[in-house]
Amino acid sequence: MVPRLAVVIPCYNEEEALPVSLPVFLNVLDGLKKAGEIRQDSCLLLVDDGSTDRTWKYIVDIHLQHTEIRGIRLSRNFGQQNALYAGIMKAREKCDIAVTIDADLQDDIGVLPEMMRRYRMGNEIVYGVRKERKGDSLIKRSTAEWYYRVMKLFEPDTIPGHADFRLMSRRVMDLLCEYRGQELYLRGILPNMGFRSSVVFYDRRKRAAGSSGYSPGKMVHLAVSGLMRSGGMKKLSLLAPAAAFAVLLMDSVFRLIEGDPKKMPGSGDILLHAVFLEQAFLISIGNVILKEVQNEPRYIVSDATD
Ligand code: UDP
Ligand code: MG
Repeated sequence: MVPRLAVVIPCYNEEEALPVSLPVFLNVLDGLKKAGEIRQDSCLLLVDDGSTDRTWKYIVDIHLQHTEIRGIRLSRNFGQQNALYAGIMKAREKCDIAVTIDADLQDDIGVLPEMMRRYRMGNEIVYGVRKERKGDSLIKRSTAEWYYRVMKLFEPDTIPGHADFRLMSRRVMDLLCEYRGQELYLRGILPNMGFRSSVVFYDRRKRAAGSSGYSPGKMVHLAVSGLMRSGGMKKLSLLAPAAAFAVLLMDSVFRLIEGDPKKMPGSGDILLHAVFLEQAFLISIGNVILKEVQNEPRYIVSDATD
């Protein structure tokens, strides 16, 4: 049976990138249709994540010219992970495969036929992994490298160099509904499912147009979501008092050896720092618990093209 594919594209203020990237996406989609690898009613599914520019107007207009481009609009900015989830849930209604990809051509849609080949070989998930990151700034490259290193410590399933460009089967989409946690971290959830999967490498390019919608705050939020999921925060919060205790112990030992209490930092100072650190952890963990208990919807759809 020929599968129906949806390419899910989260869009946050992408009015400049979409006119450049959509023709490229359409081209690859058409190629797969012509080759008979996907059904004729396969589509591009754009998720407007509460953009404040004319992204939604652009989506509505282009849908009138190309019916295979569809869109849903979220009522406000819910963040990329939730926008992806909203798109996957929509794709799940009628499609056999979903491929998620950024709107700015930084991920190479050209590897899609290879992803499809691996899907046909029986893989439920195919991960796009960045080979080169020449398109990213030095800061972005080094923070990303450290991010994957730290994440790998807490979440051994982490796939270094993989972000959110991936193919997933209908079975995976259905299972995603079972994940109830509020802090959505797809990069951790999917490898953890344990399904047969494969990897396809590609070069990370420069953004086609427009600017990054990922503020430093959003990046920290994503990293924290990952740590929360893997229980990393729990490990860190247990480490904090242990580290404070070790410092206190060393402090006392030095005092005994030196015999001069003025030379050493006061133990009161150190205790204050430790208490402050603990408070910071407690507040963030408290926030997460509150979010879980409130159980608010992950996203709200306010509009759709069809
Ligand atoms: N994005 C989103 N919601 C957000 C931020 C970003 O849907 O709050 C989308 C964005 O439109 C793009 C993808 O997520 O398709 C990746 O974002 P971006 O290119 O801005 O991040 P970067 O590549 O700089 O990490
Ligand atoms: Mg980008």
